[in-house]
Amino acid sequence: MLRVTEIFRSIQGESTHAGRPCTFVRLTGCPMRCVWCDSEYTFSGGEHFSLESILDQVRAFGCKLVEVTGGEPLAQQKAFTLIERLCDEGYEVLVETGGYVSTEGLDRRAKVILDIKCPASGEEPRNDWSNIERLRADKDEVKFVIADENDWLYAKSVIEKYDLENRAVAVLISPAWGLVDLQQLADWVASSGLQVRMQLQLHKYIWGPEVKGV
Ligand code: SF4
Repeated sequence: MLRVTEIFRSIQGESTHAGRPCTFVRLTGCPMRCVWCDSEYTFSGGEHFSLESILDQVRAFGCKLVEVTGGEPLAQQKAFTLIERLCDEGYEVLVETGGYVSTEGLDRRAKVILDIKCPASGEEPRNDWSNIERLRADKDEVKFVIADENDWLYAKSVIEKYDLENRAVAVLISPAWGLVDLQQLADWVASSGLQVRMQLQLHKYIWGPEVKGV
């Protein structure tokens, strides 16, 4: 059984897959408490579903692309089995993880979108740096959520230290909603000389920042 907050079909709002039809499986619970978290409603509640029930719901939506997210999806051990089963069924599987739980043991067919927490999140000390060693340059993506200039400088230093431009399909630079001026962030990115990609969360522009399950 897995504790699930919601399963829904929408378009992918982030990453290099933005704009694609996607089924989202949002698991309940997260051991982190990022100060700007936009998914606090996933911290508790949810409903217990069997793997078969989750797979049935995913099949009914008919999307080739499936994202397993949270909360922190990998905080539930059974999530690893769910991801394996989704891969077995031929889905293109994205796993959006906050970077605290080890990705060791994750099905190699799944594509990881790995958050690296910056200082303003309040959770930077909990990054599991071993996750960087498991990134695949032809599959995975890394995401930094930027709340201020110090976060941007931190992200730059991590990108350079770990050579992330060559370890991932994309290094995503995402604004913390409402906390950083978008034009300022665009200027930092444009003048950085780094091969990174600024991204906006499409779903928030389409449906608004407060709407769940879109
Ligand atoms: S890791 Fe994600 S879900 Fe967990 S507190 Fe941070 S932003 Fe929220």
